[in-house]
Amino acid sequence: MDIKPETPWDGTPDVSARIITAISRIASVMRSGVWEFATSENLNPAQVDILQLLHARPKGVRLSWVAAQLSISAASASDSVASLVSKGLVRKARAEDDGRATALFLTAAGTAVAVRIGSAVSFADDAAAALPPALQVQMLTGLLKLIAELQTSERFPALRACPSCRHFEANKYPGAATPHHCALVNAPLPIAFIRIDCAEHEEADLATQQRNWAQFA
Ligand code: SF4
Repeated sequence: MDIKPETPWDGTPDVSARIITAISRIASVMRSGVWEFATSENLNPAQVDILQLLHARPKGVRLSWVAAQLSISAASASDSVASLVSKGLVRKARAEDDGRATALFLTAAGTAVAVRIGSAVSFADDAAAALPPALQVQMLTGLLKLIAELQTSERFPALRACPSCRHFEANKYPGAATPHHCALVNAPLPIAFIRIDCAEHEEADLATQQRNWAQFA
């Protein structure tokens, strides 16, 4: 005998599962935009990701850092970088913070490609921008809290986000509509201005980062 569900919604996955499904679907659509762009530029998606990472970091980055950010092996990162160097899009030079180490930098041609990547996935930005501003802030808050949860595992790569920055003062004004503060600019930091990838970010010590993420969440 067939057992009938008690309500028509019994088979609906949990809200948490559907949040992750929604994020995955959005990521897939963006990924396909990156694929199209990569194909048109004779690159692979990992190479496109590397150009994007370098574009936001003019002071250069280490190969090991690139591998960790993209969650790929050092060997894969090295192959992709070698190809980008041979295409004249990336150059290797001495790291600014350690003359014995090598860092990766974009060339002028690499910078031009990185700028074009932004337009290739601007459809997603346009869709987010079309939402009401208050909803955008709510969504950003929710996503930051999800990142805070993920940061408790070792699976999530480091971000140049406010809660991991030494200038971030979480809950400096408890109970205020804008409780957080950025000491670099010495101003309260509304959620709408919390950065996920800030060029001025300076990493806080681990204990401070954990405390900040916990307070933020
Ligand atoms: S410097 Fe940037 S990352 Fe650091 S707290 Fe200020 S806005 Fe956030």
